[in-house]
Amino acid sequence: MQRGIVRLVLVGIEGEINLGFIARLAANFKVDEFYLVAPRASPDSQEARRFAANGSYMLDKAIVVENLDEALRGVDIAACTSAKIGQRSDVIRHAVSAREFAEEIAPRYTRIGIVFGRESVGLTRDELTKCNLLVHIPANPEYPVLNLSHAVGIVLYELWQSLHVVELHEKAPEKQLSYIYEKLEPLIDLVVDKERSQHVKAAIKHILWKSKITSGEASALYYFAKKLRRLVEECVKRC
Ligand code: SAH
Repeated sequence: MQRGIVRLVLVGIEGEINLGFIARLAANFKVDEFYLVAPRASPDSQEARRFAANGSYMLDKAIVVENLDEALRGVDIAACTSAKIGQRSDVIRHAVSAREFAEEIAPRYTRIGIVFGRESVGLTRDELTKCNLLVHIPANPEYPVLNLSHAVGIVLYELWQSLHVVELHEKAPEKQLSYIYEKLEPLIDLVVDKERSQHVKAAIKHILWKSKITSGEASALYYFAKKLRRLVEECVKRC
């Protein structure tokens, strides 16, 4: 399945440093489309470029528009974000968590828009009603308001995790686990009392098959088991 296209929308961004940091995040998490709605901070400012570092190409790619309607044209789902969530009757401010949005909702859509508000006042209620849903990053209820660029980082990270297959290292295939166990089993018979050996064998099997051992780790363990077995066999022969 083709992964979703992510459009990052910033409404009325005020700070050049925040804009720079966000451009960098947009490059870090390969945002496809970057929209600035009536920005107060300029994407051409020196400060924004400095803080964007190698992500400054995202500032060149940024599309500046006048209002949120223009920025949301063509998306299949628009998610506004807010630090404030509402009471039972304030449905406009009923939110899903950033994780729930990224894991359960966003993957069902191709063009995903995610909207962030101004540092000073966030998004207006009118802007919130233009989105299809509200996303909130759960945090300390006494102080849930994150810095804008930090909020963007968390939501983009969640989307990245959910829309890409994230496997940092190849997992050990089942065959490799069997090789390790085959090296260990005779060793258990040699060193463990007969009446306890079934328990130890079961425990080692459970640990191996439950583990998230990588292929590299499995090779190292296999090497160690082989050496240990040889050593114990020699010892037993000499005794
Ligand atoms: N004083 C503003 C704070 C805005 S923070 C207010 O009262 O609304 C700037 C933006 O960061 C918000 O509009 C939102 O897009 C994002 N943000 C900050 N904290 C967040 C949180 N906990 N969950 C979701 N978005 C958050």
